[in-house]
Amino acid sequence: MKTQNQIQQQAEIHLLEAAKEFQKCMQCGKCRSVCPVFKELGNELYVARGKNKLAEKIVSGDLQITDRVKDAVNECLNCKACSANCPAGVSPEHVVLRLRWYITTREGLGFFKALIFRQMIWRKWPITLAAVIIGITQRALFGIGPKNPVRYLFPLFGFSKRRFFPAMALRSGQSLYPETNPPRKGPAKMRIGYFTGCAGNLIYTNVVKSVVDILTCYNYEVIIPENQKCSGTPVLANGDYEGARMLMQHNFDLFQQYELDAVVVACSSCGMALKKEIKLFIADSSELREFCSSVFDINEFIDKNIDFKDEDLGKLPYRVTYHDPCHMVRGQGISAEPRNLLKKIPGIDFREMKDADVCCGSAGSYCITHYDTAIKINNHKVKNIQDASVDIVATACPTCVMHIQDNLLQHESQEKARYVVEILADSLRAAGTIQT
Ligand code: SF4
Ligand code: SF4
Repeated sequence: MKTQNQIQQQAEIHLLEAAKEFQKCMQCGKCRSVCPVFKELGNELYVARGKNKLAEKIVSGDLQITDRVKDAVNECLNCKACSANCPAGVSPEHVVLRLRWYITTREGLGFFKALIFRQMIWRKWPITLAAVIIGITQRALFGIGPKNPVRYLFPLFGFSKRRFFPAMALRSGQSLYPETNPPRKGPAKMRIGYFTGCAGNLIYTNVVKSVVDILTCYNYEVIIPENQKCSGTPVLANGDYEGARMLMQHNFDLFQQYELDAVVVACSSCGMALKKEIKLFIADSSELREFCSSVFDINEFIDKNIDFKDEDLGKLPYRVTYHDPCHMVRGQGISAEPRNLLKKIPGIDFREMKDADVCCGSAGSYCITHYDTAIKINNHKVKNIQDASVDIVATACPTCVMHIQDNLLQHESQEKARYVVEILADSLRAAGTIQT
């Protein structure tokens, strides 16, 4: 238990770190032209320049934390469009995160966030059990269709009743496999740790299957550490610095125990957390640097390491475009690799869409807490997908898949949102390269 003095010190650190960033701001306003939230809502407090000013006033003591301040701090997608385009090199999203951590450190987490982050996510089994119960309920009792009366209960849990949810898995992705998965034939080229992320584990289990099937088929040994927990991404984004630190430290210590050659991740936000954000929580060391540089997004890893022969890949007759998740393109600098993989698949007609790298509005829990704005932002994405005339929008982030698919259904549009790695596994199955 931390003393009041320690809590105060931690809060001060967050403000000092925020100050290091916002002091660089020249107030030029260039961020206004790229911020998706500002584009929809037009409020200066929601754009990076306004948030920097807000943070400056808080640090100088001229502004108290009011509901208006909290509202402004929560209106950010952490999409990094502002930092990618800032001439002064400011990272406003880090100012936002520090302010969120500052507010929570001072005011506490509150009952629901403490329950979800410090109990359900931290202990893991409660969130796994909850997902299975929801999965059974979705299928057996109510279904998940648009005419479902249970939708009227969604607002009680903070969800819009319009929302389409993906079906939760009845069996977690991690439970489908043993901890150690040997290469299919011959000696292992590398020993790879697989960080599944909560969405892969509890919702998109076909992604877990695709990753394991592809890697073991190409003679990699795949280790799925049983005790892995959430990467900390939703926890840190919702203001819980200490909760995120506990999760990062746990996963770092756990993966260290396996003597891995690399760690792969199939979620852009988890990848960014394990490569970069972890450094905000764990003290610098050679072990930490080595760990971070051993983490690869699955698209990056496959594109770099697997040389597919023509006969390995079966034909898939789809028109496909690609949506760049923010935490992939700006968070990790990955954009060519998933496109390279898609273009290798015979039969795929790859078509770029307009503004492929603009945020889709999902931003983790933002599309739950700020659904109407998230949908307004996503309407541009849906229009660009429709204009590209495709069957599939491929991407590499679970919340992008979830949010884009939701809004495509709202528009009664036929395109499907899928992971690149799933499409690649389908092609390998079509050629008989993967037998399962
Ligand atoms: S954050 Fe960067 S782009 Fe925005 S006003 Fe400040 S200096 Fe200009
Ligand atoms: S991270 Fe994105 S949403 Fe947040 S202030 Fe910057 S541009 Fe706007």
